[in-house]
Amino acid sequence: MPAPDRPQRTTHFGFREVPESAKDDLVAGVFHSVANKYDLMNDLMSLGVHRLWKQFATEASGVRGGFRVLDVAGGTGDLAAKFAVRAGRRGQVVVADINDSMLGVGRERLADRGIAGNVSFVRANAENLPFPEDYFDRVTIAFGLRNVTHIERALASMLRVLKPGGALLVLEFSRPVFPGLNKLYDAYSFNVLPWLGRVVARDADSYRYLAESIRKHPDQETLKTMMQQAGFERVEYHNLSGGIVALHKGYKF
Ligand code: SAM
Repeated sequence: MPAPDRPQRTTHFGFREVPESAKDDLVAGVFHSVANKYDLMNDLMSLGVHRLWKQFATEASGVRGGFRVLDVAGGTGDLAAKFAVRAGRRGQVVVADINDSMLGVGRERLADRGIAGNVSFVRANAENLPFPEDYFDRVTIAFGLRNVTHIERALASMLRVLKPGGALLVLEFSRPVFPGLNKLYDAYSFNVLPWLGRVVARDADSYRYLAESIRKHPDQETLKTMMQQAGFERVEYHNLSGGIVALHKGYKF
């Protein structure tokens, strides 16, 4: 008699439940579709505020000359460009992303800005990073963690490649902390974002996914606990824009 089929494990893709094995491809579809308009959309959607969030993360990273930095889910290279300047010629910055289209846009953007030499681009899944153990001084992931299928595996993988004494910084959408902000934020997320996506990137669905994926992502305290359970120490977070975004930082000792 044939063995009964094992029920497939599922996860969320926005508000949809999908087989775990399908999520990477669905997320890839989103970022292939939006890669060319990704930077413009970030500026429009956040009215430029994403630049301040990234500047805050850069300063909190403490990256300095000679550091080895890995920016996971680094996409079009916003953080990598800042780290490349700070790490200098003796330093090394690696952008790792699962998506060729995003990496391609990033590579061109940084080359156009004359940022090369100490930056490389690697296609890799955050859950299984192809780098040596204890190698990087800092690992960052900005607006990427909510897209990975198994957050615990990504945290373990990022911990593995960090040097003892090194730190992980997670910049991600989180839970607004001001009562009253939620309604406004929901109205904006579920109406304005898909509309902007349709008009500018010709893709409303990807921006609906963005709004939904933010709602499914662990809140500040839950992510802090997940980082601690993964083995990070001295984990702290800082709310930005009233908790719309949070920056978590934790160390490997
Ligand atoms: N970090 C960039 C920034 O802040 O502008 C890009 C963020 S973009 C919203 C999310 C990125 O995560 C995309 O480039 C996507 O390809 C990447 N990504 C999604 N799942 C991933 C995974 N499992 N491993 C590595 N990168 C992933």
